[in-house]
Amino acid sequence: VPELIEVEAYRVAAEAVVGRTIEAAEHPDPWVLRGGPDPAGLAVDLQGAVVEGLGRRGKLLVVETDAATIGLRFGMTGRLVVDGRAPIEQLLYGPPGAPERWLRLRWTFVGGGSLDLVDPRRLGRIEVDPDLDRLGPDAASLTLSQLRDALGGSVAPLKARLLDQSRVAGIGNLIVDETLWRAGISPVRPAGDLDDGEVRVLHRRLRSTISMLTARGGSHTGDLQPARIRGAACPRCGAPLRRDEVGGRTTFWCPAHQR
Ligand SMILES: [Zn+2]
Repeated sequence: VPELIEVEAYRVAAEAVVGRTIEAAEHPDPWVLRGGPDPAGLAVDLQGAVVEGLGRRGKLLVVETDAATIGLRFGMTGRLVVDGRAPIEQLLYGPPGAPERWLRLRWTFVGGGSLDLVDPRRLGRIEVDPDLDRLGPDAASLTLSQLRDALGGSVAPLKARLLDQSRVAGIGNLIVDETLWRAGISPVRPAGDLDDGEVRVLHRRLRSTISMLTARGGSHTGDLQPARIRGAACPRCGAPLRRDEVGGRTTFWCPAHQR
């Protein structure tokens, strides 16, 4: 969290600033620019720049200006606030509200309005000219053959492969667990071992799960979600759920119906 569903909501909200001119660009926390330009230099570059458009690849929000292309990564708790309104008020792992000390970016515009990045846990990041080639195809528009390519030949656990943003971009812990649970496929199977029928089922379930969670309002709205606690039973078949570390993330899955 936020996964592509939340970042897409940020992108849609940020469309409001397209065409505006940046009056002042503040980046009060140098940490979020790590490895990039210094905050003061970036502020000078962006002053007077016009926001020309927005894009998204996976969990990366891309803001095109006529001075630079800026990539925003939201980590675990990053939220975007546009003209003082938050498209997502609270994230599953983040506290609500937007006090100044969580402010990592604030652009104010000629004629009014602002774009803020609020990130309590500071795992987000601001990048200049982000390298989109490091990211795999976006999960929301992933084709069957792209999924086949992402999994084929891999001995990594299926879930780890799906979380690898260089293979498939945009899905994180919650969407992957919900998708595999709905597809009836085990997260610990070697990714390359899925047969063609299973890859087809996974592809269909991935697309339908993203659509469903988007309609419901977020990555945390899945049917498996209430059972993401120790000792819970599978909401589909009633078997005891397993809780394992897979791909470095806490994973809930049903050994009875996920094979
Ligand atoms: Zn089950």
